[in-house]
Amino acid sequence: MAATIIAIGDELLAGYTLDSNSNWMAQRLRRLGHPLKRVTQVRDREAEIVEQVRRDLADPEVSEVFCSGGLGPTPDDRTFAALASALGRELVEEESVRERIERRLERMKEAGLVAEAELNEGHLRMARIPAGATAVLRNRVGTAPGAVYELEGTRLFVLPGVPPELKDIFSEEVEPRYLAGGSAATVREIRLQFAVEGRFYPVLKELEETHPEVAVGSYPNFDSKELVLRCTGADPVRVADAIAILTRFAESLGYPVRQSAAGTVGC
Ligand code: AMP
Ligand code: MG
Repeated sequence: MAATIIAIGDELLAGYTLDSNSNWMAQRLRRLGHPLKRVTQVRDREAEIVEQVRRDLADPEVSEVFCSGGLGPTPDDRTFAALASALGRELVEEESVRERIERRLERMKEAGLVAEAELNEGHLRMARIPAGATAVLRNRVGTAPGAVYELEGTRLFVLPGVPPELKDIFSEEVEPRYLAGGSAATVREIRLQFAVEGRFYPVLKELEETHPEVAVGSYPNFDSKELVLRCTGADPVRVADAIAILTRFAESLGYPVRQSAAGTVGC
């Protein structure tokens, strides 16, 4: 089973903001043994969010869907309304969230950050979430809450877009309560300096046939001038075997082989 991410926000699609939330979650989910099948980015349009959420929830290979963004207090934040529509549920005011926002506003008033602690319509928007949440996830960094829904074989996680808030809720609430205990795939890689990628075609083709359960990827890095050959699979013995075959082949071409820590980010 796999996970998906739906990153929501006009600013992502317009190229103003890099979707770092998806990249961060992709790494965490891989290490937790919940690898991603798909990441989509959608605009802050209710119909487009509904369409993508329904698609991911209906995918039989997907057991976890993560939504990021669009939970803020302004009218362009439409994720909770879209989710209510996608799930066919009402938006309901979550008392605990409202109280938390009230306390937060009080503290902000005391600190001189706001003139008054009255909740406005924008604050209330953040407390109105689709009915029937399995849990409301506490946001210790900001105001908008996260939420989890258990839906016929799929868990839907709703997380704020602000990166420090998303990371905190994911690390403190989602990971220990819902994702612990999975087993991550084994990842091993070799690095070759100035290697010509095309020369590896024969061995990569051979591995596709002899080791179909090992995913082998070839990633040339323009900056470091390194070619990374990365093997991923459930069986460590088969992954090690594939790495040994790649190493022998690279050495036969005269390339010095550097084994590196598995899953290094960057290529
Ligand atoms: P939102 O939750 O949609 O109100 O987003 C609040 C802020 O979080 C935005 O101004 C963006 O800077 C940031 N943000 C939203 N989505 C992402 C994302 N996928 N990756 C990185 N930053 C994001
Ligand atoms: Mg937004």
